[in-house]
Amino acid sequence: MALIVQKYGGSSVADAEKIRNVARRIVRTKEAGNQVVVVVSAMGDTTDDLIKLAQQVTSQPTQRELDVLLSTGEIVSSALLVMALQSMGHQAISLNGAQAGIQTDSAYNRARILKVEARRLLAELEKGNIVIVAGFQGITKDMDITTLGRGGSDTTAVALAASTKAARCERYTDTEGIFTADPRVVPEAQRLDEISYDEMLELATYGSKVIHPRAVELGELYDVPILVASSFTDNPGTLIHREVAMEVRNKVRSIAHDLDVAKITIVGVPDRPGIAASIFVALAEAGISVDTIVQNASTKDITDLTFTVARSQLKSAMAVAEPIAKSIGARECVGDDKLGKVSVVGTGMQNAPGFAARMFKTLSDKGINIELITTSEIRITCIVAENKVKDAVRALHSAFELDKKQPSK
Ligand code: ASP
Ligand code: MG
Repeated sequence: MALIVQKYGGSSVADAEKIRNVARRIVRTKEAGNQVVVVVSAMGDTTDDLIKLAQQVTSQPTQRELDVLLSTGEIVSSALLVMALQSMGHQAISLNGAQAGIQTDSAYNRARILKVEARRLLAELEKGNIVIVAGFQGITKDMDITTLGRGGSDTTAVALAASTKAARCERYTDTEGIFTADPRVVPEAQRLDEISYDEMLELATYGSKVIHPRAVELGELYDVPILVASSFTDNPGTLIHREVAMEVRNKVRSIAHDLDVAKITIVGVPDRPGIAASIFVALAEAGISVDTIVQNASTKDITDLTFTVARSQLKSAMAVAEPIAKSIGARECVGDDKLGKVSVVGTGMQNAPGFAARMFKTLSDKGINIELITTSEIRITCIVAENKVKDAVRALHSAFELDKKQPSK
């Protein structure tokens, strides 16, 4: 008998009928002879709605009470799912984050899981129950409710799979798996049978919304295979795991894009020690997460410093950077929020020459200007104008021959 952890996203439990649909799928897994733990997200846009509601009451809700409020979304869906299972004649029980033993630090709204004390959960499984856990939440050692940050239910699911030594974690959503590009942008995109943790982490960090990067990281750390599939079909999905077929070496695995990019350039920065530190320390203290950073080689001891942030953070980042730019004697500080990112990802690119050249040539043939370039061992990212991102994805998809059925094992 295998223990399987399943996770259903908000769109999969968006209404009563969808909850019953999910219940039927859970029953199938149980009747195939498995023990089942299920993590649920809040129904549909519940979390957004709760945030709006809080903001109607006060423009500055305290973080503690916001977490109490937001945690209720997942509790609602867990109880409803148990009711659906019980009405189908199955034994099930709902547990909130605290009852499921999810212990976190006390960073409200973005808590980290410190430990999972799974005794209660395992005892419920032993009694023959299907256990439904409210995702995205935990409890501090002082018994305060925390949430894990937006999209945190994925992390709950992988953490539970790791701590119960489950055979695997199955993550169901409204997409059929991981594709060679977003199928809404590239209709010819192919579903991948499998992908490595490292590749998935790059894709998730650089724009793929299919699974939260933290969950992938945790999966890799504890070696939990994660299946990503649709809750609306029976198609096989994509397995995220360590060992990926050899035949796909020397290939790009997938293309990610992100339309939420803004750039700040500090022009004419004096090139002396401590300048970068003064800017980025201040940004970090203001809670602004900086992504790509590029500093030009200096000429005559003057350089330009460019970095990117999420578009929603441009204003606050400018407010921090501008006075510092002035105080260090830089010429000016320029912001641009009409940018996007396109990234090609594949472990097969490691130590293989020519991928960057092909990417840049493809973009130049399309007349797309590259603003910034960043790379890791298995990723090349170009920052381009927002209105060119989709063209870039399509052109790269065919240049790297991703429209053909991908080889698997
Ligand atoms: N309901 C939370 C959110 O919308 C957590 C999740 O769905 O994973 O961010
Ligand atoms: Mg959600």
